[in-house]
Amino acid sequence: MARAKVNQNKNLETYRDIWIIVEQREGKIHPVTTELIGEGRRLADLSGKKLYAVAAGYGIEEELEKLLRYEIDQILYIRHPLLETFSTDGYVKAIAGLIEKLKPEIVLSGATSIGRDITPRIAARVGTGLTADCTKLDIDETDGKLLMTRPAFGGNLMATIVCPNNRPQMSTVRPGVMERARVREHAYGKLVEVNPDLCADDIRVRFRETIRREKKAVNLTEAKVIVSGGRGVKGEEGFRLIRSLADALRGEVGASRAAVEAGFIDSGHQVGQTGTTVRPELYVACGISGAIQHLAGMEESKCIVAINKDPNAPIFKACDYGIVGDLNEVIPALIEEIKSREADGV
Ligand SMILES: Cc1cc2nc3c(=O)[nH]c(=O)nc-3n(C[C@H](O)[C@H](O)[C@H](O)COP(=O)(O)OP(=O)(O)OC[C@H]3O[C@@H](n4cnc5c(N)ncnc54)[C@H](O)[C@@H]3O)c2cc1C
Repeated sequence: MARAKVNQNKNLETYRDIWIIVEQREGKIHPVTTELIGEGRRLADLSGKKLYAVAAGYGIEEELEKLLRYEIDQILYIRHPLLETFSTDGYVKAIAGLIEKLKPEIVLSGATSIGRDITPRIAARVGTGLTADCTKLDIDETDGKLLMTRPAFGGNLMATIVCPNNRPQMSTVRPGVMERARVREHAYGKLVEVNPDLCADDIRVRFRETIRREKKAVNLTEAKVIVSGGRGVKGEEGFRLIRSLADALRGEVGASRAAVEAGFIDSGHQVGQTGTTVRPELYVACGISGAIQHLAGMEESKCIVAINKDPNAPIFKACDYGIVGDLNEVIPALIEEIKSREADGV
C-alpha cells in the first residue's frame, strides 16, 4: 500500500483545471454527481478554468454520455474490467494515478459513503490535504485559492479552510447542499477514455456478490403523522418502539441526524437541515434534544409533542405538548392508551 507523502516541492503553477469525481454503482449515477458538476461549473466560471468529470468503471459509456448534457468540458473515463465493481483499492489507484499525471488544481467528490472512503486515500497518495464534508465552496478573489467551508466544533461555527502549499486542493461536498447542474438540450463536452495502470494484485479485496438490504420507501414529506427518534432511543432495538408508536398512529418514522449517524436507522428517515423538511399534522419527537438543525426541518409541524427525560432539553421550548420521562416507559403507555381508545371506538 502506498504511504502518504507530503510533497512540499510541488510546482503549484503546473496544476490546472477543476475535476469532479463521478459517483456510480453499476452505471447508475449518484445524484451528488450533478450537484458537484453544478458547483464545479460555478467555480470554473469564477476562476476561468475548465471543468472535468472523472469516472472510474467499465461498461458505463452510455450513462456517461448522458452526463455530457450537463455543463462539463470533458469526461475522463478511466475504463478497466477491474473497475467494473467498486473496490477501494482499484478506484483509489486509478484516480490517484490520473491526478498525478494530469495535475488538476481542484478535485471535488461527494461526502457519500464511497466518497468518504476513497477521497482521503486519494489525497494521501497524491500528497495533499482534504477538507471533508464542505457545505460551501468559493474562490478567493485575491489569490484564486479554493475556500472550503464546513461546520466545526459541533456545528457551532463555520470554518473556512484553505490548502496553501499543496495541490490539488481537495474537498468532499455534502450531498443535497449544492445546486444541481443545468441540463442542456445537446451534449456539451466530450468523453475521453483513459487506460489506468492496474492489475488484479492491486486490489486486495475480491468481489463475490452484492446483497441488497430491502429498504421500505420512506415518504416523510407526505406523512400526516411522524414519530421521530433521536440519540436517546439508543439503538435499532429502540427504534422498534418508535415504529410501534408510528404504526399505532398510522404514521411514518423519522429520526435525528445523531440517530442516523449512530447507525440506529437509515438516512432516508432523517429530519432537519440536512435531512427532509416536514410539516405533518402531528410530530412526536422522542429522545431528541431539539438542536437548531433538527428544529429547522420540523418546526412548521401543526402539533409537536416531545418526550424527553431532561426537563431542560431545548425541544420543550419548541413543542406544543411536552412529556418529561423515559421514552421506554412513556411510549408503551401511549400505545396502550391509543389501542384502548380505538377498542372503545373513541
Ligand atoms: C451543518 C449541520 C447540519 C445538521 N443537520 C441536522 C439534521 O438535518 N437533522 C438533525 O437532527 N440534526 C442535524 N444536525 C445535528 C444537530 O446539531 C444535533 O447534533 C442532532 O440533532 C442531535 O440529535 P439528538 O437530539 O438525537 O441527540 P442529542 O442531542 O444527543 O439528544 C438526545 C436526547 O435524548 C434524551 N434522552 C436520552 N435518553 C432518553 C430516554 N431514555 N428517554 C427520553 N429521552 C432521552 C436526552 O435528554 C437528550 O435530550 C446537524 C448539524 C450540523 C452541524
